[in-house]
Amino acid sequence: MNTADSYVEEFLGNIDTNKAFGLRRGEAEKIFEPKFPEQPTAFEDLLTVMRKHMDTEGINPASGGHLGYIPGGGIWYSALGDYLADVTNKYAGVFFGSPGAAMMENTMVEWMARMFDFPETAGGTLTSGGSIANLAAIVTARDKHGITSAKVPNAVIYLTRQVHHCIDKAIRIAGLAECQVRYIQMDARYRMDVDDLSRQVAKDKEAGLTPWLVVTSAGTTDTGSVDPTDKVASVCKQNDMWLHVDAAYGGFFLLCQEGKEVLKGLHLADSIVVDPHKGLFLPYGTGAVIVRDAKDLYKSHYYQANYMQDAISATEYSPADLSPELTRHFRGMRMWLPLKLLGLKPFVAALSEKIQLARYFYDKIQEIPGMEVTDYPELSVVPWRYVPENDDANEFNLELIHEIHKDGRVFLSSTKLDDVVWLRVAILCFRTHLSTVDLCLQMITDCLDRVKLRRTNGS
Ligand SMILES: *Cc1c(COP(=O)(O)O)cnc(C)c1O
Repeated sequence: MNTADSYVEEFLGNIDTNKAFGLRRGEAEKIFEPKFPEQPTAFEDLLTVMRKHMDTEGINPASGGHLGYIPGGGIWYSALGDYLADVTNKYAGVFFGSPGAAMMENTMVEWMARMFDFPETAGGTLTSGGSIANLAAIVTARDKHGITSAKVPNAVIYLTRQVHHCIDKAIRIAGLAECQVRYIQMDARYRMDVDDLSRQVAKDKEAGLTPWLVVTSAGTTDTGSVDPTDKVASVCKQNDMWLHVDAAYGGFFLLCQEGKEVLKGLHLADSIVVDPHKGLFLPYGTGAVIVRDAKDLYKSHYYQANYMQDAISATEYSPADLSPELTRHFRGMRMWLPLKLLGLKPFVAALSEKIQLARYFYDKIQEIPGMEVTDYPELSVVPWRYVPENDDANEFNLELIHEIHKDGRVFLSSTKLDDVVWLRVAILCFRTHLSTVDLCLQMITDCLDRVKLRRTNGS
């Protein structure tokens, strides 16, 4: 067995018992010097650098105990796909360069487009993640609606305060920062209020403005909430607005029954983003954007250069014509290989398990006296907090999350909803099982006791 294999074996062998999080101790600072010795270094020594200085500080995203933010995946079969993609170094950007690689990527997109029940005209591309995918969609919407710079000040975008921050970023990068942005009211579950949307759009039209873009979330980061995209779609249709759905976190739940019951109307979107490195359990580095009419994505991203004249193809889209990237990693392989090797069944089962585990946590956390939760989880994120009797709740919960980070058996993160501090459990890693959630509950109880004791003793 080679050295890398033995490292991997050890890493994965300990994954269920090692902590999911380690506080920073300054180990990382000791590793990197911006220079390389003239002489080679032994591989084993380099892996020791990883073991000692990288593997025990911060989050371990491969751990089933990563229940913070939105967890990623890291299935081993994708690493195998990357290995094959890297050794062969296939050029997947342009159809002419590697028809097979480009078609494999296009097929992955087509598979996702069908999952969303998009029409035949749909197309898209694999990106490095959800942020770039959202950017590509918003740029496409901008061009389709002819929002040139002169029109920006009167153009109106509608979203909620719960959209992922990469949407704000994309709006800014796309040169749309000076658009009017309306934050639509939300219901008690932090979902877009469609009546408020209709009212706002009507008001803006009356004022002579141009409503053109609505962004909904199919699974928000903070609370896992699903906006009523089906109802928003009719408002968009009536008012000729582009409907973009950010399903980076929630999209793949469409593969399981529990998810299908919650995710309604995604097929009505003009563009949609989904992250295989979240809901399909791939390692970081794969997002996707799909546009209802592939031609719109193409028109915003194609290029013509004299030195590329041999590469023009009329039969298949080239990924390079559908995103800002030209030369890029052959991403299709890390997605295609595991789906083929394992079949779809384990993916569907794992997604269903994540929703069940979130529901289990939701019930169990309420058995601890003093715990408060938001509404029943729609997907796999559960916000919760402790409400102390004679103490400041926000301060208490901030101390509690710090205590949880010091513990580290399971990693959780916190957020603020309307100025109230909430802690969250987000279940999406394929290695998270019932035993992980039980460990999480045990850890919460232990940390809660410690914080209570400390705060009542005033020490
Ligand atoms: C993760 C996430 C994003 C950003 O995607 P990256 O892959 O991290 O770039 C956008 N929207 C939602 C809802 C997400 O969960």
